[in-house]
Amino acid sequence: MISGIHRPAAVHVDLEAIQQNVKNEMTHLQPGQKLWAVVKANGYGHGAVQVARAAQAAGASGFCVALLDEGIELRRAGITAPILVLGIIPPEQAATAVAFDLAIPVGSLDWLQQVQPELQAAQSRLKIHLAIDSGMGRIGFSEDKAVLAADAFLQQHPEFEVEGLFTHFATADSDDLTYFDYQVTRFKHLRDLFTVKPKYVHVANTATSLFNRRVSSDLVRFGIGMYGLNPSSAPHSPELQPKITLKPALRLTSELSFVKQIHAGYGVGYGATHVAKQDEWIGTVPVGYADGWQRGMQGFKVKVGETYCPIVGRVCMDQFMVKLPKQFAAGTKVELISSDPTAPNSLKAVADYLGTIHYEVACLLTDRLPRLYD
Ligand SMILES: *Cc1c(COP(=O)(O)O)cnc(C)c1O
Repeated sequence: MISGIHRPAAVHVDLEAIQQNVKNEMTHLQPGQKLWAVVKANGYGHGAVQVARAAQAAGASGFCVALLDEGIELRRAGITAPILVLGIIPPEQAATAVAFDLAIPVGSLDWLQQVQPELQAAQSRLKIHLAIDSGMGRIGFSEDKAVLAADAFLQQHPEFEVEGLFTHFATADSDDLTYFDYQVTRFKHLRDLFTVKPKYVHVANTATSLFNRRVSSDLVRFGIGMYGLNPSSAPHSPELQPKITLKPALRLTSELSFVKQIHAGYGVGYGATHVAKQDEWIGTVPVGYADGWQRGMQGFKVKVGETYCPIVGRVCMDQFMVKLPKQFAAGTKVELISSDPTAPNSLKAVADYLGTIHYEVACLLTDRLPRLYD
């Protein structure tokens, strides 16, 4: 998808906010704990390479991505720090992981067996992190027998360098710790069955770290918090307040491309879902669902100049309309998403309006919106 650099719409990313969030988290780490910055999905929509560089300068000592290609992107940008791919890769891609020095997760003996002959033939070593499924139900070893068999296999096969062992929590963002504690118990049980001793045993995502969950972790896989967003599923719960200051980094702006007056009986947008009852001033903003500004945003208020104005009519693929209190000049600035977490158009407010989470809103902003770095 081509980036629209000749139109007035952009995602602004405040790299200083990213750095401040990383630095604040660094002061919050347990003794000896390291911070690995999670920059999957193009850095949660913020731009993977730029975020990774900023995070590294602020103290991140490694990175997590979801795909091999995302790891390759960082390597091609000159990043030499450790990178962990978080998703299972097809066995036939193991050589690619070796070539780019990317560590990958392993959750079955079968996978190790499929990859081993090729590694041996090429006399290469693959960095792996043993994935333990302690209750997320996604990837990893979940049965004693499978762990013991894989452990025995790894002892026979130095082609695998066991750099890490990890699990992922399903409810670290919740104020009910019952399931979290269950996962910790499962994790410790399965971890202790392994005799191989990895360099990093890690369990902490942002929520696990920020809400001071009592579990040790050699690394914090710091994702959403780095972007200045609170992962809490219950943001009003006092114990789910982040223990550090988080500053959102992302803003989405545009401007009015067209302004006109309409009269009673005149409709706006597909389906004519808005019909004027009297004279109205309508502004057009050149951003639409193809940019990730979804149709569900109809009715939400964006900031036009200094005024919050409702989106009227359906959001189109490339444009949407707002109802203005009076005539505004074409070119008036429009702020769709504010980086002020208390603003009525914060990323969190947009996500709440759509009935989803801020992670999803940020990731869905498409490449058609250029990313500008302040
Ligand atoms: C995405 C992801 C993270 C980061 O989670 P945040 O909630 O953004 O901190 C950490 N670990 C794994 C395995 C992930 O998939």
